[in-house]
Amino acid sequence: MSAPKPVKTEHPRSEEIFRRATDVLVGGVNSPVRAFRAVGGDPIVVDRAAGARLWDADGNEYIDYVCSWGALILGHAHPKVVEAIAAQARRGTSYGMPTELEVELASKIRAALPSCEKVRFVSSGTEATMSAVRLARAATGRDFIIKFEGCYHGHSDSFLSEAGSGLATLGIAACPGVPQALAALTLNAPYNDAAAVENLFDRHRDEIAAVIVEPVAANMGVVPPAPGFLQKLRDLTTRHGALLIFDEVITGFRICYGGAQTLFGIVPDLTTLGKIIGGGLPVAAYGGRRDLMDRVAPLGPVYQAGTLSGNPLAMSAGIATLGLLAAPGFYESLETRAKRLGDGITAVLRESGISATAPRVGSLLTLFFSGEPVRDYAGAKKCDTRRFASFFRAMLERGVFLAPSQFEALFVSAAHSDADIDRTITAFRESLENTTESL
Ligand code: PMP
Repeated sequence: MSAPKPVKTEHPRSEEIFRRATDVLVGGVNSPVRAFRAVGGDPIVVDRAAGARLWDADGNEYIDYVCSWGALILGHAHPKVVEAIAAQARRGTSYGMPTELEVELASKIRAALPSCEKVRFVSSGTEATMSAVRLARAATGRDFIIKFEGCYHGHSDSFLSEAGSGLATLGIAACPGVPQALAALTLNAPYNDAAAVENLFDRHRDEIAAVIVEPVAANMGVVPPAPGFLQKLRDLTTRHGALLIFDEVITGFRICYGGAQTLFGIVPDLTTLGKIIGGGLPVAAYGGRRDLMDRVAPLGPVYQAGTLSGNPLAMSAGIATLGLLAAPGFYESLETRAKRLGDGITAVLRESGISATAPRVGSLLTLFFSGEPVRDYAGAKKCDTRRFASFFRAMLERGVFLAPSQFEALFVSAAHSDADIDRTITAFRESLENTTESL
């Protein structure tokens, strides 16, 4: 595919649609970061997408590194996924009763992630993490949980303090509407700080139900786990009779066929998944040890349900997606592409002498406008977010769409060609030249 043309500065159709959107939708959007608040201007109003490309309502073309916030590892509208959805749609879109499709997708997940002896499908990552914590509390008879500053686990009440993603973007440290009594049960530790977790366990002996962690943090920008950090969490939770929950909503089937637990060789008690397992349709899941999962209704009293859970369209998209990801060489080839981008960006940064780092874990990458390596949320918050905003806009003008926040990952998909990546690196060089430090 040819390089995208420079984006027109006038967007009359998008502006008109967005004006109407702000009248009927809160902030014109259905999820806060989409509103471009942190980078300025109006958001892209999408008309259609294919492969690694998005087109806005004015016909401008963008190379897309958001890819539905990581769900689309195959790129947009992969023909095999579209075909699977269309074929299923003709047989019915929702039954509210069991199907063989659910068995097939759950079996694929268990084969890839043996820690998920049993799986329950839900419709969003938020439901998955919320349910996993409920189950952990029920199984341990304890109320406290430990999470990490800058990690995001969806928007249920227990997770909205010191959270990453949109809360980091909008600077919301604690969310109104969450009862103080519930918020007090969430203990935050700095990411990569196992000693802080140990202290919390000492202070709350026999009170902590679970530690929930993004095994590679990707909601404060990409922050890899320090060597030994995840193992230490495994050891501490085991020693204190608490459960370890890996939130692999982003990392599941992103880093390898399986998850971060496969890569790092750590077995969590419970795992949450989302995004990729739904192939771009609303699916998420939680799974784990059989004895734990069997506490969920109808086998046990831990209640959780959903009208559209295990939706057949979504199951079909997930099955088709995982089928393609299982092809030999898929992740090696994705790694080659992502490395081409990561190396290109690192080379540009080195030449420019700009204070920025570009950590990458597989096809997850972030450009942090900070001279020091970022290892936790405090480090991420030191980044020059105003500089990120002008860099983001310069990239957008050059037809490259990044997540509109310093605190998000950039997702490379199998649909990004070498030409797309080279074009991105050129845009990157030009955009950096057009931004200035604001600190
Ligand atoms: N956990 C993680 C690690 C996530 O990145 C997200 C969303 N980006 C969620 C949970 C919540 O998922 P959802 O937006 O589907 O509710």
